[in-house]
Amino acid sequence: MKKTVFLAVAALSMLSAGYGGNKPMDSSSNQEIKFTYEVDQFADLQILRYQVPEFESLTLQQKELIYYLSQAALEGRDILFDQNNRYNLAIRRTLEAIYQNYKGDKKTKDYKEFEVYLKRVWFSNGIHHHYGEEKFLPGFSKEFFTTQVKALPKDKVPVKKGQSVDQFVAMLMPVMFDANMMSKKVNQAAGVDLIQTSANNYYGEGVTQKDVEDFYDKMKDPNNHHPVSYGLNSRLVKENNLVFEKTWKVGGLYTLAIERIVGWLEKANAVAENSKQRDVIEKLISFYKSGDLKMFDNYAISWVGDSLSRIDFVNGFTETYGDPLGLKASWESIVNFKNMEATKRTEIISSNAQWFEDHSPMDARFKKESVKGVTAKVITVAQLGGDCYPATPIGINLPNADWIRKEHGSKSVTIENIMEAYDKAAEHTGFSDEFVWSDVELKLLHDYGFITDVLHTDLHEILGHGSGQLLPGVSSDAMKEHSSTIEETRADLFGLYYLADPKLIELGILDNPNAYKAEYYKFMMNGLMTQLTRIEKGKDIEEAHMRNRQLIAKWVFEKGKPDNVVEFSKKNGKTYVVVNDYVKLRSLFGQLLAEVQRVKSEGDYKAASALVNDYAVKVDQNLLSEVQERYQKLNLKPYKGFVNPVYELVTDKNGKLLDVKITYNEGYAEQMLRYSKDYSSLPTYND
Ligand code: ZN
Repeated sequence: MKKTVFLAVAALSMLSAGYGGNKPMDSSSNQEIKFTYEVDQFADLQILRYQVPEFESLTLQQKELIYYLSQAALEGRDILFDQNNRYNLAIRRTLEAIYQNYKGDKKTKDYKEFEVYLKRVWFSNGIHHHYGEEKFLPGFSKEFFTTQVKALPKDKVPVKKGQSVDQFVAMLMPVMFDANMMSKKVNQAAGVDLIQTSANNYYGEGVTQKDVEDFYDKMKDPNNHHPVSYGLNSRLVKENNLVFEKTWKVGGLYTLAIERIVGWLEKANAVAENSKQRDVIEKLISFYKSGDLKMFDNYAISWVGDSLSRIDFVNGFTETYGDPLGLKASWESIVNFKNMEATKRTEIISSNAQWFEDHSPMDARFKKESVKGVTAKVITVAQLGGDCYPATPIGINLPNADWIRKEHGSKSVTIENIMEAYDKAAEHTGFSDEFVWSDVELKLLHDYGFITDVLHTDLHEILGHGSGQLLPGVSSDAMKEHSSTIEETRADLFGLYYLADPKLIELGILDNPNAYKAEYYKFMMNGLMTQLTRIEKGKDIEEAHMRNRQLIAKWVFEKGKPDNVVEFSKKNGKTYVVVNDYVKLRSLFGQLLAEVQRVKSEGDYKAASALVNDYAVKVDQNLLSEVQERYQKLNLKPYKGFVNPVYELVTDKNGKLLDVKITYNEGYAEQMLRYSKDYSSLPTYND
């Protein structure tokens, strides 16, 4: 499973920065150089880059390991293109050939639209939108495309065997330009054949949904409590009326790419940190060689059991979002290492769980006598590949097989350097300048916005959900349709209340007793005002997290009115949120936490309904219009992705490894073209 973020969330929940202070150093001169997060933007996309803080402090062997794993992470890129659609590699290679051979005027509309289309194809790993799944159409003309393909040197046109250039163009024309052909990569709409109406390449031509269901139903054994993930690593095809799998493995489909992945994994194995990690890598190699899904489970169990290695990675057929039936997995890779500082923070919080439970403002009857915090590792990403590139998750939770999760556990990680990059980039959007009341709050957000936001999430996840208990006899679904809203409200309040507690200073997690004000301000501004950017005019709030935020913000706003704790103020005709008394605000959060815990513990459905209906749902439509007008002027891109850093081996004249150098200078098109040249081993057509 992936935790993802897109701009609406990023801008609202992480609009400020200032945390960490990990500035890249130019290693030759030891001078601080300025790091630029923004790389490129086009269509609805913005490309950023991320830093890899502390890479330099790893041992040479660890750096070497990361280098080999990062090469393995890039070798599967063609697999993903082909998985997404059977014409994707042909289209990408043709577009790249035009891009590199174009001799005409680059100022024409056709050319500019051509560039945008190519960049979008790179971003989506194909011709369908990475998020919406719908096919996006070229903005250039069919004539432009035909002319450009015909102008290419003959050997640069990736025709099928025996095909003329004219036939090739005729084959691609409807695939690229006809809105009705292959219009959705993944079709989830009920009532039609989901396989035949999805444009992905997980199933061969002519395969129907019934074929798939029949094929895999036969394999399932209800008495097997350790079932493999049937179909995960193959294409299901129908030839001569026979339905069978073509497995993705060495010697099978995609073998040329998989052989190279295995080659890098073997090098990685030789420099692994310990025997546990070697076991993980060897099992993965053996899975790639055999295609045996039982071996994949063995690998997953070994992987989830390795918590000691500093370096970790995902490499393989992992998530099944791209298949409407949830069987086939797209290829992806992430290489990372543990962020020791941040993981220390989450471990401290987790190991003090009982203290937080004992001191919370809820009634003693609702407290757990013995509570255990969840531990989540914080990681630094060093390389992204396949379905994690360029669009990237901010957290992952694997493996996916239910029985392995139950019997062996799972790893849940937060990717802090990616969150930091989102946060830093958001700083330059003008969002804070537009909506934050004064320089005082801006400075607070700049200095403490990121760390308190991350901490609020930590407290919410590690302690909030696990705290409190139901009274005997109260049903766990007593809150009915308000269950998620009430539960998220409770966890958020737990985090908010403790964010201002001196205990965090005592534990060494925060260094300034006023830091919490950054998150308090941001939370109130978001809950009372800026989250309205995501609500359509005339509508109310439906989504549970948005309801919970408004519930909290409106409740403390109303209850604090006599003391003017929080107010709306106007400046130049614009509305702002102003917090006048942070200490009283904290005590209101505490009061609401006690009440929401009571409601949940006693199963008081009537009170839950009243809280939700009075505070969480209704929207001030005038304020909504104003906020949306101001937001639209900022012209923000709703989706973001990342370029990777570049790793280089530094050797002496005898070939002995001296160092692994990391640089951050590569541009977007530059990186994509390099990957297409150096990490592209598959044929254009993989049948
Ligand atoms: Zn939650």
